[in-house]
Amino acid sequence: MRIRRSLLDLDDLDADELAYIFERTAAFERKPPGPLLKGVACVNVFFEASTRTFTSFNLAQLRLGADVINLSPRDLSLSTKGETVEDTAVTLAAMGIGVLVVRHPEVGFPQRVAMCFDGHVVNAGDGGHAHPTQALLDIYTLIDEFRNLANRTVAIVGDVEHSRVAHSTIRGLHRLGAKVVLVGPESFLPAGYAREGVVVERDFDAILPHADAVVLLRIQRERFAEMPMTDEEYIAGYRLDERRLQTLRPEAIVMHPGPYNRGMELDESVLDYAGWRYLKQVRNGVCIRMAVLDFLVNGGR
Ligand code: ASP
Repeated sequence: MRIRRSLLDLDDLDADELAYIFERTAAFERKPPGPLLKGVACVNVFFEASTRTFTSFNLAQLRLGADVINLSPRDLSLSTKGETVEDTAVTLAAMGIGVLVVRHPEVGFPQRVAMCFDGHVVNAGDGGHAHPTQALLDIYTLIDEFRNLANRTVAIVGDVEHSRVAHSTIRGLHRLGAKVVLVGPESFLPAGYAREGVVVERDFDAILPHADAVVLLRIQRERFAEMPMTDEEYIAGYRLDERRLQTLRPEAIVMHPGPYNRGMELDESVLDYAGWRYLKQVRNGVCIRMAVLDFLVNGGR
């Protein structure tokens, strides 16, 4: 079997490839490309809920002229007839499916699929592990704002431990020279990052005046049994609200991968803040995914 290019996490891309994907994204934004994926069959299979990622992969594929099939996990023989993941992947490839976009609650599931699928696999989120296309669109949004990320301070706030977005984004930002500060209660801050030169900070108020960008995270309650603190305690320490917004630098931006929970990690004043970039992130998600699909299927420069 040929091993084709897949995107399972950000580390699969070297610096040139990252730059190439960002260049293509910008080009696609300026001018929609032609049917670069004409005749390529893409299957999207999401074993977990998704609004933004699912819709934007669909849109990206349709805009590139691909043939798009959305499989509902409950209709798969994998779920009800005892077929293995590996046999499912081989079967889909035999039909000529070229691209599989997979989201699954199990860490490493897309990797398992990629090992036996004779096509391209894109990880659309595996458990609390990785979400490379969200990281790409977040980093692209930051570059669009600041051009060069070297020495820019990006505070990633909240449930870092259980956020696959944060894990992928931290890697990418670190590689691009940004100063990454993880902010949250101790139980939400993975210990390992401090060893990699990432700053870990408990005090949200202390970091706000120094941040160029604040990336808020949802508490990923689906990934742990019991909240390690009360909601009130979390809100007191980490909710971005009007008072905290006023302590930001005037040019600082606020981002969120979505979905955001009003009243928890942010209050409504954030949605009116001039530097709130959530909708820009969502918009960028379509062209980023077009660029990733084109890169995997058609190759880079
Ligand atoms: N949408 C993102 C994800 O799938 C973030 C989240 O769910 O909070 O990981």
